Amino acid sequence: MAKVKQISPGAWSISLPFLGEDEIIGSYLLAGENELAIIDPGPASMLEELLASIRAAGFDPQEVTHILDTHVHLDHAGATGSLVRLLPRAQVYVHSKGAPHLADTSKVVASASRIYGDRMQMLWGEIESTPEERLHTIEGGDILKVAGRRIEVHYTPGHAVHHVVFFDAHSGELFAGDVGGVRLPGVDYVRPPTPPPDLDLEAWSDSISLVRSLRPDVLYLGHFGAVRDIPQHFGRLREKLSAWGDFVLDAMRKGKGEAEIIATLIEKTQPELQRVARDAHALQRYEIASNYAMTVQGYMRYWRKKHPERL
Ligand SMILES: [Zn+2]
Repeated sequence: MAKVKQISPGAWSISLPFLGEDEIIGSYLLAGENELAIIDPGPASMLEELLASIRAAGFDPQEVTHILDTHVHLDHAGATGSLVRLLPRAQVYVHSKGAPHLADTSKVVASASRIYGDRMQMLWGEIESTPEERLHTIEGGDILKVAGRRIEVHYTPGHAVHHVVFFDAHSGELFAGDVGGVRLPGVDYVRPPTPPPDLDLEAWSDSISLVRSLRPDVLYLGHFGAVRDIPQHFGRLREKLSAWGDFVLDAMRKGKGEAEIIATLIEKTQPELQRVARDAHALQRYEIASNYAMTVQGYMRYWRKKHPERL
């Protein structure tokens, strides 16, 4: 059962029970002035849980007017097309570079199917396309008037080339998607989620600087929940992003293959998490939020594509 929590006047966080685990994949709900907005609706496999959560927050899902996607990865935006089909008032807002992947999900489905094989349906559900007339492209600098709020859109590539954050300067709340990395409740540890295909460390670093310059009071992460020690949090994320990147680069230069790099990265970094985690279960939870195989694949592709001179 999904968990719903009011986080501020007119805002709720929703924990979608992905693979039976709470507080790994999060959506956010904003309500006001007869509008209802979902930020990052989550995977299509969690559609029923999302709708139940909206009801649990006291709303009829049919009232949803806006779907704001920080980026189009399946754990954030997979349910978008299904929601548009079910909810007649819902309009979708996504960065122009992500929009084609929502308008036609066949490429995303094909590449995810290659990775997940017969676990595809169980993990991600039926990934439906969004009709063009319901799809609105946004860019950094745009202002969205949503649910009685003035939401600033800021372009934050790095994790994905089509990543944006949504900032309410009035309340100080910043809906961060994956630009703030993975930090699960109750565990004082930040993991860099670095999947292929468009990881870009320089762009990500600039995006962190941009987010910090906005001076938000709170970040709401996709994985998962509120972060208030923002300078320290981003400091640790930066450190991990570059340390893990250097580790993968070094291993590639030594001629190691993907499987070996994954194994050695786990060996090197898992003790860091074990030291701060309260139980062994935390390792599994971080692995669900951002697994080591994708992390290494993302870095390997980044080095080959962006810095072949360093290999
Ligand atoms: Zn992502």
